[in-house]
Amino acid sequence: MKVHEYQGKEILRKYGVVTPQGIACFSVDEAVTAAEKLGGHLWVVKAQIYAGGRGKGGGVKLARSIDEVRQLAGEILNMTLVTHQTGSKGRIVHRLLIEQGVDTSKEYYVGMVVDRGRQRVCMMASSEGGMDIEQVAADTPEKIHKIFINPMKGLTDADADEVISKIGIPVVCAAEARQLLQGLYQAFDDTDASMLEINPLTLTTDNHLMALDAKINFDDNALFRHADIVELRDLDEEDPEEIEAAKHDLSYIPLDGNIGCLVNGAGLAMATMDIIKLYGGNPANFLDVGGGATAEKVTEAFKLMLHNPELQAILVNIFGGIMKCDVIAEGVVMAARQVRLTVPLIVRLEGTNVALGKKILAESGLPIISAGNMADAAKKAVTAAASFSPAG
Ligand code: GDP
Ligand code: MN
Repeated sequence: MKVHEYQGKEILRKYGVVTPQGIACFSVDEAVTAAEKLGGHLWVVKAQIYAGGRGKGGGVKLARSIDEVRQLAGEILNMTLVTHQTGSKGRIVHRLLIEQGVDTSKEYYVGMVVDRGRQRVCMMASSEGGMDIEQVAADTPEKIHKIFINPMKGLTDADADEVISKIGIPVVCAAEARQLLQGLYQAFDDTDASMLEINPLTLTTDNHLMALDAKINFDDNALFRHADIVELRDLDEEDPEEIEAAKHDLSYIPLDGNIGCLVNGAGLAMATMDIIKLYGGNPANFLDVGGGATAEKVTEAFKLMLHNPELQAILVNIFGGIMKCDVIAEGVVMAARQVRLTVPLIVRLEGTNVALGKKILAESGLPIISAGNMADAAKKAVTAAASFSPAG
């Protein structure tokens, strides 16, 4: 689960992480009132969406007067913000953060993720913060320093000092930096975060450190113990199809391609997408119907896939283990009838009761293309999608 920048900063402030003062707003009038309340001579008007790269996309702007706050808030609110993380459709901005502007002299980067291989939280830091960290990672990876945090000890003073010296935070700020880094780790650990990123961590012209941006993702599997975080969820920012899918207990993630996939098991679903790619096709979605898919669940899954106007074929790939192939075949037939399937349907079944499952499909009278194995299924799906035309 993600939260907005202003919510992330609220969480971090509880851990002693210094951020600029700011107020979240839903209208231009609120933005103006907020700027007046904050006072000062420089404000930052920031689009609040669940994606980064806002600065480059025109979603973060500095204002030097209240009139400018009004003007920029008017421009940014309700704009369709396209960034390298939103995809080409972009996101409509429904919320703003009005912050006190800060005079910066240097921008650092600090991030944390869970490194599953090492079973530790990895803190990454760089002297090259700001808007181009992806470029730094690609061109000069040696400028990104990593430390792996011992979960029994937390981020020790020695760990913090290593980060501070490697990225060149001035000695006068060392004590402040240590407290900030330890606060970040404590926040990450306490909230069961999966990713936390401060970019930029800024050095102000009067030599103080401040988190100017904050991005936090939380581990969905731990949300049951964080009711306060779940309350922050902004459904406007989440994909409506993913929300619909979650209601039916389906794991569904829309992708850019044209071949819909309906698979039981996440690993098999990943393998199915890989093999579609291998044969030159593009999956339209990831979809795991889980181990105990009922006919109703399969029908909902078909409906979700058919919402996608790019869809040109559906590949059903089921391994019948606990789930029996005849049950899934009945589900597929029922769903295909109910949703009036318009695209070619390729089915590969294997496992328990496979013969019966195939018989049900063959006798259904539906134009189902049956496949013998995964490679065969992928090839048939790619061919069917390529020759599919909606009119015919
Ligand atoms: P992102 O582009 O989505 O990562 O959004 P950020 O919150 O990082 O804002 C983009 C950029 O705006 C930052 O990298 C800063 O360089 C700049 N910025 C944000 N707040 C301030 C501020 O208070 N003062 C100054 N001078 N720059 C700021
Ligand atoms: Mn940023």
